[in-house]
Amino acid sequence: MRKWLIATLAFPVTLHAFAQVKLSGEIIQGGLVLGKTEPSAIVTFDGKPLAVSKQGDFVFGFGRDDSKKHQLDITYPDGNKETTTLTPKKRQYQIQRVEGIAKKIMNPDPKAVARAEKDSQQVRAAREIKTNYIAFAQGFIPPIEGKITGVYGSQRYYNGKPKSPHYGLDYAGKTGDPVKAPANGTVTLYVPDMFYSGGTMIIDHGHGITSSFLHLSDAYVDVGDKVSKGQIVAAVGASGRATGPHLDWRVNWFQERLDPALVLKVIPIK
Ligand SMILES: [Zn+2]
Repeated sequence: MRKWLIATLAFPVTLHAFAQVKLSGEIIQGGLVLGKTEPSAIVTFDGKPLAVSKQGDFVFGFGRDDSKKHQLDITYPDGNKETTTLTPKKRQYQIQRVEGIAKKIMNPDPKAVARAEKDSQQVRAAREIKTNYIAFAQGFIPPIEGKITGVYGSQRYYNGKPKSPHYGLDYAGKTGDPVKAPANGTVTLYVPDMFYSGGTMIIDHGHGITSSFLHLSDAYVDVGDKVSKGQIVAAVGASGRATGPHLDWRVNWFQERLDPALVLKVIPIK
């Protein structure tokens, strides 16, 4: 068994003279990691197989509070095996207070609770879709030019009450401002009026990597449409639990919530 090192920096590194694996991205909470190896290799993360593209691309990521030691194994057709452990670096998250949330949203009635439950099941299902697109491996661009007004991971207090952390990157914007696809993909969900997230769109970038846009006022593409990086797909809005118009962009690896700010920094592996 050969020992190999991991690039913990946000650029691809060839690991040793005969390296058959390259990684790009930070080993950190919320981080997305791209990998490239021989297309015929078998790659497992914590014992579970990862999809490997015809070009040898694979991907995984670490959630907000992930501090576990993970194991990445690569088995080559010649029987050689490479193994390493990865422990995401811990982060400190901000505390953010949001005031002025409407009473019917703070204390939803049973009908609204049922609605929100149905919404989250739909979102979960869209994030579970596994396709062989490799758009995730080709780099991401910001979906909007606006100033960043909310970051990933913040512990949120709504009207003084602690609620679940914020998993998106919030950009300031006006209702109707264009929202671009951050990478190529296929639209897998659009619902104009989810209870908390309002107009909600999900784009699949392949291998379980998805973008979600929240609080939209409009969509210019339909479910099933293929979109390209930079294409205008939706409009900023203030729908759902929002105090004003802004774009909330989220990135997931299946149900694992990643930090879009880190995703933007990951450099594709040549
Ligand atoms: Zn947000």
